Amino acid sequence: MDKVFDYLYIGTGPINIIDAVKKAQQGKKVLLIDSKSQIGGAWVAIEVGAYGKLEIGCHIWSYNQASYNFLRDFLNLNLVILNPQPYFLNKRSRLIYDHKNALLSTKTIAKHLIKGKFKSISQFIAKNPSARFPIIPKKYLYPKGGAREFQNQLIQKLINTSAETKMSAKIDSLEKVQGHWNAILSTGEILSAKHVTMTATSSLKQIICSGKEIVLKYSKLNYTHFHLILDQPTVKPLSYIRVLNHPFIHRISDITGQLDSNDTNKTVLLIGVFDTELEKVNDNNKVLTNCLDYLRNNKFISEQTKVEYSQLNKFETTYIKREQRSQINALDENLELLGTTDLIYGVHAKLKDWTT
Ligand SMILES: Cc1cc2nc3c(=O)[nH]c(=O)nc-3n(C[C@H](O)[C@H](O)[C@H](O)COP(=O)(O)OP(=O)(O)OC[C@H]3O[C@@H](n4cnc5c(N)ncnc54)[C@H](O)[C@@H]3O)c2cc1C
Repeated sequence: MDKVFDYLYIGTGPINIIDAVKKAQQGKKVLLIDSKSQIGGAWVAIEVGAYGKLEIGCHIWSYNQASYNFLRDFLNLNLVILNPQPYFLNKRSRLIYDHKNALLSTKTIAKHLIKGKFKSISQFIAKNPSARFPIIPKKYLYPKGGAREFQNQLIQKLINTSAETKMSAKIDSLEKVQGHWNAILSTGEILSAKHVTMTATSSLKQIICSGKEIVLKYSKLNYTHFHLILDQPTVKPLSYIRVLNHPFIHRISDITGQLDSNDTNKTVLLIGVFDTELEKVNDNNKVLTNCLDYLRNNKFISEQTKVEYSQLNKFETTYIKREQRSQINALDENLELLGTTDLIYGVHAKLKDWTT
């Protein structure tokens, strides 16, 4: 092996990029590998007809002030308060994000209390930046220039370091050989590193270490999103809404800021729908019509609003099964599997490393 990297990252998601930048700034030899041709992991741009490119990554940043501060300073981001703030919508009643989080936290903590698992309570609070009981809810922030501002700053930061990237390259398996981790690519090429970081969505066949072989198992999650271009703004402003108790809609976001064009008269909405419903109805136009009825009935859009363009996009994500995650993390101190795909939770988990 002619070159051994200090750090090898599987995937070019934001957490890996920031960690790679930090390590490269410390003089380490760093390599990021991604099977996609675009840097950014889940953060990719798609074409929406003649309207140009639309960034489809992250639309909400979970609340954690320390993580916001870190991202703002490290990437020189212009973070602004989401207006209106994200909320859960159950029929006609709204519940702001922090209050819903408080309900969920109370439920989890009560469960641990009943079982007498006091240590689990402190672990839950330490790992979960949303575990709060606020009377006055916290303000969720987001980059003023949308996901594209974040993406551009990340890439700029990365290219200003010595970190290397290898795109359109798929790692099939990892094997620990003579104190190093070998990453075996689908082309047969072998790359070697002292330390490997993989994201929770890394898709590999197997990991071999000290005579143990783990054949990876995955659960798949499909995100099915209608992207709509409307001819006018929404009646009520909206940022991110989680829809509860609806047969097929589970979220609505105004993602106008993610469109890479200057046409300020257009509005871009994302409607997240359950895959199962689409399959059941087997008529995408019918589901779309029902989505529009929902938007009109809830007065998000006016009766006159026209849909100029609509596109159905499916994104399949594979997650390493939960039961295998601790097994992988226990294999070797130089093999790290990230525990979350939520951006802010991911930053929060790394803050100590990045700020000391
Ligand atoms: C449509 C969509 C919307 C989302 N919205 C939000 C949101 O609003 N808020 C939020 O916090 N999070 C959101 N997420 C989660 C999103 O995954 C995170 O924001 C962030 O991208 C997580 O980064 P990650 O490092 O876990 O990996 P990812 O971004 O999932 O990237 C992993 C990368 O690794 C590559 N890869 C995997 N296996 C291999 C291999 N064997 N060899 C080479 N490359 C490999 C993949 O091709 C991929 O590019 C969303 C995800 C999707 C898909």
